[in-house]
Amino acid sequence: MEYEIGQLETDLRLALSRNEFCLYYQPILDLVTGEIIGVEALIRWKHPEKGLIPPVEFVSSAEETGLIIPIGEWILRTACIQNKVWQEAGYNPILVSVNLSARQVYQPNFADRVSRILKETKLAPEYLIFEITEGIMLDSYHAPKVIKELKQIGLQISLDDFGTGFNSLQYLQELPVDKIKIDQSFIKSSTIDSNDATIVKMIIEMAHQLKLDVIAEGIETKDQLIFLQQNLCNQGQGYFFSKPLPSKELEKGFYKIEQIVIREGIPQELNN
Ligand code: C2E
Ligand code: MG
Ligand code: MG
Ligand code: MG
Repeated sequence: MEYEIGQLETDLRLALSRNEFCLYYQPILDLVTGEIIGVEALIRWKHPEKGLIPPVEFVSSAEETGLIIPIGEWILRTACIQNKVWQEAGYNPILVSVNLSARQVYQPNFADRVSRILKETKLAPEYLIFEITEGIMLDSYHAPKVIKELKQIGLQISLDDFGTGFNSLQYLQELPVDKIKIDQSFIKSSTIDSNDATIVKMIIEMAHQLKLDVIAEGIETKDQLIFLQQNLCNQGQGYFFSKPLPSKELEKGFYKIEQIVIREGIPQELNN
């Protein structure tokens, strides 16, 4: 997409008012049972002329211009409504993960806004997870405070892209997180590079010691899945199971995806 920055800002504003954004959902599976335990909501822009635009092309501009605040509110509300719709349709209750930008967290009364959206949409907080990255610690004074307020609402926090930043361990120490998502760059090379395999094993082991869930992102092959299962990674997501899909398409595959989990990687004591 070729875009001048001023034009992009104007178009993002229009997109919001014209309702051109949409959420795709990618399943997150329990790697032992094969059940879908959650979905990650990922924004897309259905541009009237340019077609479907991925978030890498507009999320950072939305952050720079502050438009991520109204867009983020739309994302959260839409994801909560969708999860509630699935629950009411009778699917097994699952978690919905929503990515947060630092800008959103620093607006005044962010936790109150979240609380209000949960009440409005009638989604119980236990079915919502926020995914945060190290970017959130740009304001290392406010971030832990806001994250604690969010946790008090009863929702969960997951540390996204773990291992890619400079201070991953420090953030783990300072933020009350429930889950760690191992960045896909490590998963990609885990079956070809022994150093990356070691890093992945260590992150999984550390998560277990800290009693945190650990999710592998970007699982694309059977070998990667088997490696992760053998090393007791509890959750995973990636193209091997499913790409992010519009809600209607994902629903059709809800039960089929579970059958893709390969049993041979699961240690005998867990595989019964
Ligand atoms: P992320 O939160 O780390 O999301 C994971 C990205 O990896 C998604 O890209 C997903 O489609 C992609 N992915 C998942 N499995 C695989 C796989 O097996 N192989 C490969 N190659 N890729 C895989 P996407 O949807 O393009 O999103 C990119 C980034 O944009 C996200 O990274 C997140 O940082 C940001 N983003 C997306 N949606 C939102 C949103 O609603 N709000 C905010 N603030 N940021 C968002
Ligand atoms: Mg994410
Ligand atoms: Mg990630
Ligand atoms: Mg990322």
